[in-house]
Amino acid sequence: MTISADFCVPPPAVVAVPVVGSSQLFPVHRVYCVGRNYEEHAKEMGFTGREPPFFFLKPADAVVAVAAGQTGRVHYPSLTRNLHHEVELVVAIGRGGRDIRAEDALDHVLGYAVGLDLTRRDLQTDMKKQGRPWCIGKAFDESAPMGPITPADQVPAIHSADIELTVNGQPRQASGIDRLIWSVAETIAHLSQAWTLQPGDLIFTGTPEGVAAVQPGDVLSAHITGLAPLQLTIDPPLAALDS
Ligand code: MN
Repeated sequence: MTISADFCVPPPAVVAVPVVGSSQLFPVHRVYCVGRNYEEHAKEMGFTGREPPFFFLKPADAVVAVAAGQTGRVHYPSLTRNLHHEVELVVAIGRGGRDIRAEDALDHVLGYAVGLDLTRRDLQTDMKKQGRPWCIGKAFDESAPMGPITPADQVPAIHSADIELTVNGQPRQASGIDRLIWSVAETIAHLSQAWTLQPGDLIFTGTPEGVAAVQPGDVLSAHITGLAPLQLTIDPPLAALDS
């Protein structure tokens, strides 16, 4: 079929993430994120760690896909003086649905990846204090770097995997996927009550304790057992642009 629509500005490109062992790409539809899904991180942010899951979104084009063996680059974002790393397990949805039962949820997972929920912590904290949306703290450009997606059948032990992040070779975050307050299956069940999940959706499942600031020039290395690691450098801020 030929698409003959005549757009008044160029339509946005599809954001695509490589799939390990395949020449096919995963097209990103939405990026869902889970807040406070590890008890020790919830505590370091001043909460009990026992509340129901809650969600926020990033735009699809916040994803910076980094191929296996490559070092990704993101720019230090504007407006912040406190850019935080949050290493997270990312779930790639291959089959959509609504009101998905937890016992069926893993059938909807295409694969898993290592991601970073980069956060302008100072702006997020200001918005929280004022009861305003978190968008400016969470949903900025290049705020969701991630590695390639490994098909789920290649990582049967993902639910007991280790998750860790180093910055310039120094350990910053280390935990286990088995310490998620809400498991991958439970998260999909909750999320699909609020939105109809679609093929192409990504879910950043939350970060363990140890979040801290990064600076331009830092090298971040994120690992989850069984997945392709994510290596990332922080570049200086972008210059002004009038396109
Ligand atoms: Mn997060």
